[in-house]
Amino acid sequence: MHKIVIFGAPGVGKGTQSQLLSEKLNLYHLSTGEVLRKAISDETDLGLKAKKIVESGHLVSDDLMIEIVVDALKNNVKGTEGFILDGFPRTIEQAGALDNILKELGLDDLKVLHLVANDDEIIKRLMLRGRTDDNAETIKLRLKVYIDSTKPILEYYKPDRKIIEVNGIGEIEDVFNKIVSYLQ
Ligand code: AMP
Repeated sequence: MHKIVIFGAPGVGKGTQSQLLSEKLNLYHLSTGEVLRKAISDETDLGLKAKKIVESGHLVSDDLMIEIVVDALKNNVKGTEGFILDGFPRTIEQAGALDNILKELGLDDLKVLHLVANDDEIIKRLMLRGRTDDNAETIKLRLKVYIDSTKPILEYYKPDRKIIEVNGIGEIEDVFNKIVSYLQ
C-alpha cells in the first residue's frame, strides 16, 4: 500500500507527476486544487465560498479543506493500492489533521515525496502555465504563502517520516522514472 504526500512549490509539477504515478501504481489521486476548481466551475456551495480566495492565491480555510480530505479518503481509498495527496497538507494544522485521520483509518506511515526546484524556475513555469490564478501578482503571493505556511510542514515531517527528495526540473518522463525508482 502506497501512502504518499507529494510536496513542493506551486508549479513544480506535482499535478503531472501525481497523475502519472496514480495511473502506474493504481492509487487514488486527490488534488485539492482540482476539487476546488471543479467546485468553482460547477458553482457549488464550496465553489462559491472558495472562488475569491483561490483566484487571489490565498489559502482556503483549514476547516473546509480538512473536511474535504477526510470525506475523500474515507470514500475512495478502498479497492486501490493506496493514495497520493497533491496540494494537501498546505499548513501544519492540515498536516496534524491528516495524521489523525490516517491513524483512524489504519493508513499511517506516510511517505513524503518532495519535488525540489528553485524560485526562478518556478516563476518561469507558472508564467507559462496560464491558469486563471496564474498572473504575476498571484504567483508572487502563492510563492510567499508556500514559503510561510506550507514549507514548514517539512520540519514537522522530518523527525519520523520518510522524505524522498527528487529534483522536479527536467523532462517529465525523467522526473517520473526517478520517482518510481525511489518508491520501489
Ligand atoms: P493547487 O492546484 O494545488 O495549486 O491549488 C490551487 C489553489 O487552491 C491554491 O492556491 C489555494 O487557494 C487552494 N488550495 C488548494 N489546496 C489547498 C489546501 N490544502 N489548503 C488551502 N487552500 C488550498
